[in-house]
Amino acid sequence: MVKPGLVLDLVERVSGLARGGTVSVPLGSGDREESERTVAAWCLRTGNELVEIRGGEAVLRRGRTPDIAADLAPDLTPGTRLWVYTNFDCNLACDYCCARSSPRAERRAIGRDRLQQLVSEAVSCSVRELILTGGEPFLLPDIEELVALSTAALPTTLLTNGMLFHGRRRDALSRMDRDRLALQISLDSATADEHDRHRGAGSWKRAVAGIEVARDEGFRVRVAATLPPDRTHEVDSFHGFLDSLGIAREDQVIRAMAHRGVADHGVELTLESLIPEVTITADGVYWHPVSADHEDQLVTRQIFPLHSAISEVHRRFNEIRARSAAAAQWFACA
Ligand code: SF4
Repeated sequence: MVKPGLVLDLVERVSGLARGGTVSVPLGSGDREESERTVAAWCLRTGNELVEIRGGEAVLRRGRTPDIAADLAPDLTPGTRLWVYTNFDCNLACDYCCARSSPRAERRAIGRDRLQQLVSEAVSCSVRELILTGGEPFLLPDIEELVALSTAALPTTLLTNGMLFHGRRRDALSRMDRDRLALQISLDSATADEHDRHRGAGSWKRAVAGIEVARDEGFRVRVAATLPPDRTHEVDSFHGFLDSLGIAREDQVIRAMAHRGVADHGVELTLESLIPEVTITADGVYWHPVSADHEDQLVTRQIFPLHSAISEVHRRFNEIRARSAAAAQWFACA
């Protein structure tokens, strides 16, 4: 039996709120499941929102949070692309690495079994593309199998520094599915100095060689550059250099440096400023790949079921944007 007067409580407390405001309503000592069902049904009938059940209370919002995520361009909707950190160790130790990767970083591999489950749940969640990143994925002995699992289910992009394409790793690369796999290789400048200054001596030359290997093998190659704020004037000449390597303009990604990981400066990125990109690591689900080693953007430690993780990101995004919109209305100064 539900607490007597529960519905009256709901009416009184919610009707006293401004639209978008929230209030807690005690559920009392009655049958908990029935009380929760009663509150959920009342919210549905009256156009209000049950935000959560916390302890012995229901948290309600007057009105419903608008589904802002649903209005985004389809390829920006959270969960359309799924990022997976395959591992965190790397052969390089770049001085602005957002994932704090290096040869000394713990591997924290996602592993075959988890990736298999992720891939199959991703298909049922209408994910359209998988993006595998690290760390350096080619350090993993089973990278060929991981990529095969992924490309068998969905178009896949694999992020790499492109420096390890020789010996058995080149053989593994040559067996990957060219039709379903694109490679995204990091290269930060048109000449060696700037790239090597952040990524280590000799790394530019090996990355350019890696781009050439990947293109010779017949892969679509994207090149992604990280540009510190004092080098934005180089954008045009860098595009010219990438043109000369045969990289299509739509495959030239130039992004600002983020103040995340080991970077000591860069653009500040918060939950409020980022459109989320659901990101899975061995440690849990994160808001965005740039913050996959940061507790402030950890969404949940529960990776499975994947649909719950995606829904949670979606829900929080709507809530954050609705809160910002409500705050903006209150702070009109004239
Ligand atoms: S930025 Fe990329 S290549 Fe550099 S340490 Fe991090 S993961 Fe490795």
